[in-house]
Amino acid sequence: MTTGDEVGVSGPMSYPDDAAWIAAAGATRALDTVPPPPSSQVPTGSPVDSADGAGSPADDGAAAPPTGEAAQPDLDASGALRPTPGDQEVVPALISKPGPGDSELGPTGRVRRTIPEPAVLNSHGPARVIAMCNQKGGVGKTTTTLNLGAALAEYGRRVLLVDLDPQGALSAGLGVPAHELDRTIYNLMLERNTSITDVLVPTRIPGMDLLPANIDLSAAEVQLINEVGREHTLARALRPMLHEYDYVLIDCQPSLGLLTVNALACAHGVIMPVAAEFFSLRGVALLVDTIDKVKDRINPDLEVDGVLVTMFDGRTVHARDVVAMLVQRFGDEVYDTVISRTVKFPETTVAGEPITTYAPTSPAADAFRTLAREVIAR
Ligand code: ADP
Ligand code: MG
Repeated sequence: MTTGDEVGVSGPMSYPDDAAWIAAAGATRALDTVPPPPSSQVPTGSPVDSADGAGSPADDGAAAPPTGEAAQPDLDASGALRPTPGDQEVVPALISKPGPGDSELGPTGRVRRTIPEPAVLNSHGPARVIAMCNQKGGVGKTTTTLNLGAALAEYGRRVLLVDLDPQGALSAGLGVPAHELDRTIYNLMLERNTSITDVLVPTRIPGMDLLPANIDLSAAEVQLINEVGREHTLARALRPMLHEYDYVLIDCQPSLGLLTVNALACAHGVIMPVAAEFFSLRGVALLVDTIDKVKDRINPDLEVDGVLVTMFDGRTVHARDVVAMLVQRFGDEVYDTVISRTVKFPETTVAGEPITTYAPTSPAADAFRTLAREVIAR
């Protein structure tokens, strides 16, 4: 099936052109695969960059901030794309490290905003429902759902995690053997006599519960097609518990099918995890287009809460360029917090717990705490 007429979101699915916004963001190098010219390499002091010795100190790298104006791709005589002046200005400015007198720039190239310490809550709910959404697999949706949830719980927020992926990776990541469970979110969505409390399981993290999923859920898309109000099935199922939680985080499957539309239909906000690789930029336009359609036709309150850069490797120009492009395209919607690539995350999956308890003092755990503060502050 497609996300076409069956789900009532769109007519024949259109595939918006990512190349357009990528080019507009000055990403000339994303379109040909030529390595970046040395002039755009700004030393960062990291082992990889300093080893090649390219570039000059980033003293004037604090040049003009990105203006959001589209840089037009510039073709040379052979028809190949070459860096535009906009590209030259934007990328070094975004990736430069602060000098002694500079205010501190984050990986997004912006001055880090001070994020207030979250207020202590004395009562809970109603929940803000956030869908973790990207039709690409392996970009960090599940990792973000689990670890952001745990970090929000550390700040005293009551959190409900919803596994809406038949792969059940979120459930597994919390050490819940979902394949052995009789009742999962599938039963909640498709059976009238299953209530949310029948399915809810507590996690080892105080204040954080889970609605688990297993492979049964893969049948749901087909079965939901014949339901009345099929896009609102998840919303109906969650409604009785929204007042108990401060955040409901929905881990979407890597598709824009009916289950994801159900998540978007009941969400207040979407977080788009995007891996810091050029290939991840492809498909972003389709995702934004789908969110817009759901907002238009089903859920007028839906907002993009933010774009989260994941799998970031600050030693590579490539990753920093991708972040620069996302900042060009999405501006302040890109979270200051960037999740770095680290083997700690695959390790936590094996351990069946979030990074905040598996490696509580690691930079990765701190990144999710900072993200939680950003989410609370937004
Ligand atoms: P998605 O839910 O979008 O498919 P996952 O969160 O499951 O993506 O991540 C895919 C794989 O990448 C998992 O094995 C996960 O442990 C790993 N991973 C996620 N984030 C990171 C990261 N920041 N650094 C290294 N590995 C990561
Ligand atoms: Mg996943």
